[in-house]
This record gives sequence, C-alpha cells and structure tokens, in this order.
Amino acid sequence: DLILSVKGLTADVDGTPILKGLNLDVRAGEIHAIMGPNGSGKSTFSKVLAGHPAYTVTGGEVIFQGQNLLEMEAAERARSGVFLAFQYPLEIPGVSNLDFLRVAYNSRQKARGLEELDAFDFDDLVEEKLDVVKMNPAFLNRSVNEGFSGGEKKRNEILQMAILEPKLAILDETDSGLDIDALKIVANGVNQLTSPENATIMITHYQRLLDYIVPDFVHVMAQGQIIRSGGKELALELESRGYDWVLEEALGVG
Ligand code: ADP
Ligand code: MG
Ligand code: MG
Repeated sequence: DLILSVKGLTADVDGTPILKGLNLDVRAGEIHAIMGPNGSGKSTFSKVLAGHPAYTVTGGEVIFQGQNLLEMEAAERARSGVFLAFQYPLEIPGVSNLDFLRVAYNSRQKARGLEELDAFDFDDLVEEKLDVVKMNPAFLNRSVNEGFSGGEKKRNEILQMAILEPKLAILDETDSGLDIDALKIVANGVNQLTSPENATIMITHYQRLLDYIVPDFVHVMAQGQIIRSGGKELALELESRGYDWVLEEALGVG
C-alpha cells in the first residue's frame, strides 16, 4: 500500500541544487519524521511535493497513489489529497474562514467523485471537526487567519486538515515560535486524524514534537538527501548525540 514513492529526486532553486537524490517510500498508515540540520532541504522537499513554483525538479520521480505527482499542478495535488500544513498561512481579508474551508472541501469532494455539500450540510460537518481542534466557532466567521495568533493559525491548519482528510499530510514544523501549547494542538490533531488509510510526514528539528506524535520511521536529511533512516529510537539518539556522527558516517564530514 505505497502512498508515496520518491526516487532519486533532485531539485533546484534559482539554478542552485538543493535536493540531491532523495529517496523515500511512505505506506498507508505510517508516520514518518524527517529531521536534520538547518538548511538541509527539508522545507524544500515539502514544497516540491506540494508543487511550489519556486522549485524546479531536475530529476528523479515522485509517484503518489500510482500517479506521477510531478506532472500535476499544485491545485490538482491538493485536490488529490496532498496536504501541506502551513501552506495557507496567508491572511485573506474579506473571505470568511468558513467560506474558504467550504470551497476547499468541495473541490476535494469533486476530485474524489464525492458529493459536494451545501452551506447547511457543510456547517454540520465543520461543527463536528471543530471538536478535534477544540476551536472556538467564532473563528469560522473571521477572515482567514486575519489577526490570528501563531497558535490559532496552527489550530486552523489542523482544522483544514481535519476537513480535507488528506491521503498524505506533510507538516513542516520548522517555523520557530512553536510553544508547547501549539505543539500539543498539532500533535492531538495529527494523532486523531491518522488512520490506516492515510500517511503523515512530519518535518521537524524538535525532538520534542515526537514525544507527542510517535513516528514509525525517523529519517535524517542532510545536504539534500536522506542519509540515515531508523525507528523512533533514532530521534532519541539524535537528541543526545546531535547530527555530526550521522553526517560523518554517511558523508564523511562532520
Ligand atoms: P531546511 O528546511 O532543512 O532548513 P530549506 O529547504 O529551507 O532547509 O533550505 C535548503 C537550502 O535551500 C538553504 O540553503 C536555503 O537557503 C535554500 N533555499 C530554500 N528555498 C529557497 C528559495 N526560495 N530561494 C533561495 N534559496 C532557497
Ligand atoms: Mg530551516
Ligand atoms: Mg525548513
């Protein structure tokens, strides 16, 4: 049940190679953590998966549910179930959070060949999902992210995830300023939304997050490649020993 298969992926930003032959297989039901030093290409990888236009794929392949992901437009990837959290951090004045969610939901429903919901039925669905993130319903009528605190934005992104039910959720947590409450919000949401049918990639350089979300696999990324993979114990080892020993063993540098 391979959801995502990445082989030899290389990508550039403005002509500079950032991803240098990345391999990763993700199966249904799995949670993968990607850790690694700053600047190793973790965020670049997530943006390449989401189809961000600033990154040019120069080689390799990415198969998502049997389809060539790299041939799909960013919006098409989202509709097919690739969700990059923190992909919509923008404030959208004049568009209510509720309307935004309904449009996103209905375009995902359409892509899945499922029924679109009218405003009334969608309200019922949202009410149910608000529980997952313990969000105050007042946030639904505010403009998307406008004036939201960092923690509220993250909660809102988990709400988006709960509503869109992605096949592959990619959480890039490396933004600074995640306090313990924001970590718990993200973790609770992810834990509730994880199922045998979907998969999650958590990108983090905080071992702390992995106290709340237990990954099946931990990967170390450096210099645009995954240079080591292991189980959840690898995260603990990285916490106590740092990254240098992995770099040295894999790349002969430290
Ligand atoms: P990480 O998330 O692991 O910290 P990033 O993927 O953010 O690493 O960055 C990897 C490298 O790519 C860094 O050297 C960074 O400066 C560069 N990079 C990433 N995005 C851009 C961009 N849009 N323009 C220029 N350089 C970029
Ligand atoms: Mg970084
Ligand atoms: Mg990053």
